[in-house]
Amino acid sequence: MKRTIEDIDVKGKRVLLRVDFNVPLDENGNITDDTRIINALPTIKELLSRGARLIICSHLGRPNGEFNMKYSLIPVAKRLVDLLINKIYFGKDVVGADAQEKAKKLNAGEILLLENLRFFKGEEQNDMEFAKQLASMADIYVNDAFGTAHRNHASIVGVAKLLPNAVGYLMGKEVNTILSTLENPQRPFVAVLGGAKVSDKIYVVMNLLKKVDTICIGGGMAYTFLKAQGYAVGKSMIEDEKLELAKNIIEEARRKNVKLLLPIDNLCASVFSPTAKAVRVKGANVPENLIALDIGPKTIKLFSKELKKAKTVIWNGPLGVFEFENFSKGTEKIAKQIAKVKGKTVVGGGDSIAAIHRLGKSKKITHISTGGGASLKLLEGEILPGVAVIDNV
Ligand code: AMP
Repeated sequence: MKRTIEDIDVKGKRVLLRVDFNVPLDENGNITDDTRIINALPTIKELLSRGARLIICSHLGRPNGEFNMKYSLIPVAKRLVDLLINKIYFGKDVVGADAQEKAKKLNAGEILLLENLRFFKGEEQNDMEFAKQLASMADIYVNDAFGTAHRNHASIVGVAKLLPNAVGYLMGKEVNTILSTLENPQRPFVAVLGGAKVSDKIYVVMNLLKKVDTICIGGGMAYTFLKAQGYAVGKSMIEDEKLELAKNIIEEARRKNVKLLLPIDNLCASVFSPTAKAVRVKGANVPENLIALDIGPKTIKLFSKELKKAKTVIWNGPLGVFEFENFSKGTEKIAKQIAKVKGKTVVGGGDSIAAIHRLGKSKKITHISTGGGASLKLLEGEILPGVAVIDNV
C-alpha cells in the first residue's frame, strides 16, 4: 500500500500538491466542467484543515513549454475562490521569483496556486533542475493527479524523488481499488471491454486473461476478433494487422479456460452516420454491404447472463457507437446490468462513464475511474511512474 496523506504530519509544513486541474475552457476562458476541481477538494480541504501551507500545481492543455495565457490557471484560481474559504494566492511564474516569494510567506491554512506547469519545457522533459526548483518551495510532496500518473514528468516523478511523499485521496482510491480488484477479486470475475480499436486495448485484454473468468468483447474491436475466427464482418471496423494477435488471444483464452465471448448478433447500418437506421442482423456474420455498429439483443442477453452471476466486474469502453442514438442501446443495457451487480464494479473510459451517468446509476458502481489513460495502464498491469515513485507504508 502506498503512503497516503493519512500517514503524514503536515502541520505547519509547506505541502506541494500535484492535482489534475486540466479542465475544459470555452473560447472566453470560462470553465465548462469543473468536475476535476471538485474531485480534488477532499484532499485540499483535509490538508488545509490539518494546518498545511498548501502549494498547488497542475498542467492545463498543451502550451508546449511556453507562456500562453490561453492555458492560464487563472480561471481555476477564480473557481477555487468560490469554493473555499481559505486565502488563495496565485504564483504567476510557476517556479520564478513571484512564486518563490509567495511560497515563503504562505501561512498555515492558505493556498498558493502555481501557474500552468507546462509553461516550462522542464515539466514534460522531467528535467531535474525544474524538479529541484519545484521541490525547493516545499517540505512534503503529495500527488493526487491520477489522470497523469502514467506520465514521466517533473511534477509527477522528479519532484517526488526529492521530498518525503504521499498520495492524496483520489489517487489512493484509484490505485488501491483497481489494484486490489485485479489481485483479490471475488469470483466469478467478468471483464466487459469495448471501444473502437483492438490496438488500444490489446495489453488490457492480455493482462485480464490472467485474472478473469470471463471476458465479453463488444464495440468496434469485436469485429477483428470475429474476422480472426472466420466470420464475415462486412464493412465493420477491422484492424487487419491485428488479426493474428486476435487469433492468439482467442487460443490463449482457451488454454487458460477463460470464457471469451463475442457478439452473436448485431445492429448494423449501411452508412456510418448519426441518422443511420439500425438493421438487426441475426447471427454473428455481418452482410457484405453493412457496418456493425452495436451489439444485438441476443448478445446483450449473453453478456447479461454472465454479469448476473458476477461478483466482480471491470468495464471499459462502449459496446457500440454510443454517440448515435440508434446504436446506444447495447452500451446502455449492459450499463444497467452492471449497475445491478451485487459485488464490486469498476467502470472506466469516457463513454462507459457517460452511460452510467446518463442512466443515473453512478451510486450503484463501486468505483468510477476518472483517469482514462492511467486506469488503462493499471489494467494492463503496468506500474505507473507516478505511483511507483511514492513510498510504501
Ligand atoms: P474508446 O475510446 O476506445 O473507448 O472508443 C470509443 C469509441 O468507440 C466511441 O467513439 C465509439 O463510437 C466507438 N465504437 C464503438 N463501437 C463501434 C463500432 N462497432 N464501430 C465503430 N466504432 C465504434
